[in-house]
Amino acid sequence: MVILDGKTLAKKIRLSIKKEVNQFKEKGIIPGLAFILVGDNPASQVYVNMKTKACEEVGIYSINHRMPKEINEKELVDVIKMLNDNPMVHGILVQLPLPEHIDEEKIIEAIDYKKDIDGFHPYNMGRLARGNPLFSSCTPLGIMKLLEKYSIDVKGKDVVMVGAGNITGKPMALMLTNAGATVQICHIHTRNLKEKTKVADILISAVGKPGLIKEDMVKEGAVVIDVGISRVEGKVVGDIDFENVSQKVSHITPVPGGVGPMTIAMLLYNTLQSVKLKEQ
Ligand code: NAD
Repeated sequence: MVILDGKTLAKKIRLSIKKEVNQFKEKGIIPGLAFILVGDNPASQVYVNMKTKACEEVGIYSINHRMPKEINEKELVDVIKMLNDNPMVHGILVQLPLPEHIDEEKIIEAIDYKKDIDGFHPYNMGRLARGNPLFSSCTPLGIMKLLEKYSIDVKGKDVVMVGAGNITGKPMALMLTNAGATVQICHIHTRNLKEKTKVADILISAVGKPGLIKEDMVKEGAVVIDVGISRVEGKVVGDIDFENVSQKVSHITPVPGGVGPMTIAMLLYNTLQSVKLKEQ
């Protein structure tokens, strides 16, 4: 059984991004990423801090806009418009979730799609669906890189994607389909989940329910990717019962140290792609 080591691969990717960032800086171009954080959700604060630190490490300049949760939609859109027009900003990231009174879709659509380094804008989702992506969602992009690194060919494979969210499940299914896999998407309303998962050559779970995927739901020798992040008794855990599932699979991602670090590396990667798009 092979552990898919996202932490080590992400480190390598960050190093190569750092080199390219330095080359841009030598030409007087400073890659810039703007973060918008609305409210005081503690998990969101942790994520933005982690992403800001990752930018610092590779030399990407970051701007942080922290706003009170009472802010209205128009005020938020105005900040986004200002960042859309700012030539120093190559990427804009609005940390989700937003407070309930703000329409998430409207906010995502307000971002210039050329600065949408999260890949959430309908233009970018549409490009991905057409098999001609510009910016793709960081988590599934990181998983594709991880599979590639371990020479796991997805072409012709039966893949089951558990979770149909916009951030991971749906774009992951599109990327895998584009790469020639046969993909089935499962979600909360799926009946007999086990029947579906246990025939998968590659099983990916992005739900956020610890222990959802048990040993008897997984095929012998399958590749298993765990996107889930939950806290149980102070420990970060995924969706997959790692201890038992890891006994029968060929490859598995750990939580933490699997998909998570790849997501952040892909955010930096997409920011650099945006710089290249604009400056080259
Ligand atoms: P989401 O809420 O957008 O989607 C969750 C999906 O799970 C939905 O499609 C829902 O139908 C499905 N679901 C819920 N209960 C289910 C069940 N019992 N059986 C089958 N499907 C079920 O969530 P998301 O944003 O995609 O995040 C999912 C998880 O992945 C969370 O734990 C999140 O923290 C984590 N996540 C991790 C990373 C990372 O970098 N590792 C990145 C993004 C999200």
